[in-house]
Amino acid sequence: MAPKSDQLHIYNSLSGVKQQFKPVNDGFVGLYVCGPTVYSNVHLGNCRTFISFDMVYRYLLHLGYKVRYVRNITDVGHLVDDADEGEDKIGKKARLEQLEPMEIVQQYTVDFHTVMSQFNAYPPNIEPTATGHLIEQIEMIQAILDNGFAYESNGSVYFDVEKYNKSHPYGELSGRKIEDLISNTRELDGQDEKRAPLDFALWKNASEEHLMKWPSPWGIGFPGWHIECSAMSTKYLGAEFDIHGGGMDLKFPHHECEIAQGCAATGKSPVRYWMHGNMLTLNGKKMAKSTGNSLLPDELFSGDNNLLEKAFDPMVVRFFMMQAHYRSTLDFTSDALIASEKGYARLTEAMEVLQNLNASENSSADIQEMIAKFYEAMNDDFNAPILVANLFDAVKFINSVNDGNATISAVDLASLQSEIQGFVVDVLGLKQSTSNSEKRLTPVMDLVLDLRQEARTNKDWTTSDKIRDGLAAAGIVVKDGKEGTSWN
Ligand code: AMP
Ligand code: ZN
Repeated sequence: MAPKSDQLHIYNSLSGVKQQFKPVNDGFVGLYVCGPTVYSNVHLGNCRTFISFDMVYRYLLHLGYKVRYVRNITDVGHLVDDADEGEDKIGKKARLEQLEPMEIVQQYTVDFHTVMSQFNAYPPNIEPTATGHLIEQIEMIQAILDNGFAYESNGSVYFDVEKYNKSHPYGELSGRKIEDLISNTRELDGQDEKRAPLDFALWKNASEEHLMKWPSPWGIGFPGWHIECSAMSTKYLGAEFDIHGGGMDLKFPHHECEIAQGCAATGKSPVRYWMHGNMLTLNGKKMAKSTGNSLLPDELFSGDNNLLEKAFDPMVVRFFMMQAHYRSTLDFTSDALIASEKGYARLTEAMEVLQNLNASENSSADIQEMIAKFYEAMNDDFNAPILVANLFDAVKFINSVNDGNATISAVDLASLQSEIQGFVVDVLGLKQSTSNSEKRLTPVMDLVLDLRQEARTNKDWTTSDKIRDGLAAAGIVVKDGKEGTSWN
C-alpha cells in the first residue's frame, strides 16, 4: 500500500542534511531504537528520547507504512562510565543490593514498561534482550574476525579501528577525526590487551568476580555493549535497514562503533537514516542519573519533588515534550509544565467542541489547506511543535464556529474531526487520560477540597485533618502549592 504521503523528509545525522525518506522495501519500515540499560529507574530525560521515537513510530504508522519497530533491553555489557574496562552497570547494582543481576534487570524492565505505558507509548514489535542474543553476537564477532577487522587478545576480542579506517571512514557519524581521537586517548600502559587505544571491545574476558559471563570460542566472558545492538538489529531488520534512533549522547562511540561493526561484518553500512534526539535538561544541564541532576516520572505524577509546585498528568508531560522539536534541547521547569497544562486543556476542550459542532452550507476557511499543514509539519523531519501550532490555529477556528463567527461544511467537518483525532491521538499519542470514574470524581473532590478550605479558614483543624487523613486512607494525596490545591 502506498503511504498517505511520500513527502516525509528526515534529518539524517550521517549526511547532516534532511533527505526524502525512501525505505529499503516500499511500504515497509525497519526501525531500531537503542533501549535502556536496566540498572536504575528511567528518568525523565531517558523518557524524552523514547517518547520522541514513539512519535516517529506513530507518524510512520499514520502514513500507512508497515513498521517493524525493535527496541532492545541492555541487560549486560554496558560498563560503568561507558568504558571498555571495569564493572558492569547491572553487575555493580546487583553486588551493592546483594541480588541476582537478573533480579535487577527484571525490576527495572518492569519499571520501564510501566512508565512507558503511563506516557501512552506503544510497545515495540520486538524487544530483544542482549543476554537472549549471545549466539548472534558471537557469530557476528566471528564474522568480523574472519574478515580481518578484529583480533583476539588474552581471551578478549577487540575491533581494529586503524585497520578498518584504511578502507572505511571511522568517525563519519560523529564527525570526529581519527587523528584527533588518537591524540585524545591515553597511552596504553603495556599491560593492556588492546593493540591501540582506539580499539574497542567486542568480547571481554571475564574475571573471577564478574557475575555475568558465558562460554565463547575465546573463553569465558561477556559481550561488548556496541555489538549487542549490531547483532540484534541485523537479526530482526537485516544487514541494511531504514532508521536507527537513540539519544544524541549515543552518537559516539556507540553508534559510530555500530556502523564500523556492520560494515566489517557484512560489507554494508547498516543504517540508511540515523536519527538522534536531543537532551532534556534540568537547570540548563543534561538530565543524568549519575550527576543527580534528574527527575523521575513518578515524582512528576505525584508532585513529590521540591522542584515541582504540583503534580502533573502524564499526558501534560507528553504534550510538553511534543512542544519542542526532537532535535532541540528542552529545558524542564515547573512553570513550563504549568503553561503546557493550560495549552493541553485548551486543545482537549476544543476537541470536545469539535465533536458537537453544527455543519453549515459552506466553510468560511480552507479546511483542506489547514489539514495539509498538519502533514507538512510532520513531513518536515517530524516537526511536532509546528504541528501543535497548526492544531492551535484549528482550535481558534473551531471556537469561532462554535461562537457563530465562522462556518464549516459537513464534508469539511467530518474530515477535520477525523484528522484532528488522528494527529492528536494517533500521532502525538495524547489520549484523554481521565477515565470515566476519575471524571466523576472531579466535582466530588472540588467539593471536598472546598469544605477543607472552609474548615481551615475557620481554624477548624479537627475537620481539616479528618478530611486530609480520610483522603490519604483512600489513596488520594492532596498538595497545596502556589497555583492552588491539587490532588492525585
Ligand atoms: P541508557 O539507559 O543510559 O542507555 O539511556 C537510554 C536512552 O536515554 C539513550 O537513548 C540516551 O541517549 C537517552 N538519554 C539519556 N539522558 C538523556 C537526557 N537527559 N535527555 C534525553 N535523552 C537522554
Ligand atoms: Zn544501542
